[in-house]
Amino acid sequence: MSTNGSASRGRLAGKNAIITGAAGGIGLETTILFLREGASVLMSDISEPALEKAVLIAREKAPHMTGKVETMKCDVSKEADVKAVVDVLDAWGGVDIMFNNAGIMHGDDADAIDTPEKIWDLTHNINVKGVWFGSKHAVLSLRKHKKTNASIINTASVVALVGSATPQLAYTASKGAVMAMTRELAIVHAREGFRFNALCPAPLNTPLLQDWLGDDQEKRHRREIHFPTGRFGEAIELAQAVLFLASDEASFVNGTDFVVDGGMTRAYVTPE
Ligand code: NAD
Repeated sequence: MSTNGSASRGRLAGKNAIITGAAGGIGLETTILFLREGASVLMSDISEPALEKAVLIAREKAPHMTGKVETMKCDVSKEADVKAVVDVLDAWGGVDIMFNNAGIMHGDDADAIDTPEKIWDLTHNINVKGVWFGSKHAVLSLRKHKKTNASIINTASVVALVGSATPQLAYTASKGAVMAMTRELAIVHAREGFRFNALCPAPLNTPLLQDWLGDDQEKRHRREIHFPTGRFGEAIELAQAVLFLASDEASFVNGTDFVVDGGMTRAYVTPE
């Protein structure tokens, strides 16, 4: 292994992975780690231009990859798109790891009174139905290829665990659904060897949230005061957790709400 950490240690050697929302923060960082650890990765995202840029970054940051990396446009709210992505992996030998990570938090998402119904539906179509479709087609692929060892990771959020006084009701409800759905899938498929875990990130330093906060210092402070560490999380810190959940090192980790939040959901008051 090289000292810059870019060489493969092979924790995912020979495994095939699909990552949705792979052009963005957590998805891209996870792609890079997966490639460094020997996996082949199909990066999918709704944005083709963003994917084109992201795959260049992934190739540059994982120069010693032993697997392959490809891209494919996919809107996770459309079942045909999700099926098409999973079908690509038939030629690779089927899916081993599915990271259902794509999600949105819309600028018009608000409280019970002000959230427009169309924003509720859009959010749930992507965040909830997208995870259902990804889980469904992963299971179909796993059975087709007679796999008995697989990991599906679904991105939820800490807002599925703790209430937020700064409302984004459609998003919060969608992430609660992801968590409950993941837990049930974990139990239903446990004896097939398919592990399902939900990833619960704290507010992060990625475009999804940072674009939304912009340079509104008051909005930022309203959040930062609740972080024991005093900072937002970084996408790479989530990617490291996904790598663990995806690997055989997590072979007995199933049905968890895997919280990566710097202690935020454990805090009563935070240091001044
Ligand atoms: P990001 O915006 O950087 O990445 C999300 C990616 O999903 C983008 O590349 C986007 O193009 C893609 N996407 C959006 N709609 C899609 C669709 N319909 N089909 C396919 N791809 C689509 O955000 P991120 O922070 O890396 O978010 C990844 C996941 O983490 C999301 O599910 C998000 O809800 C969750 N999350 C983020 C935070 C945070 O603070 N950023 C906190 C908790 C959970």
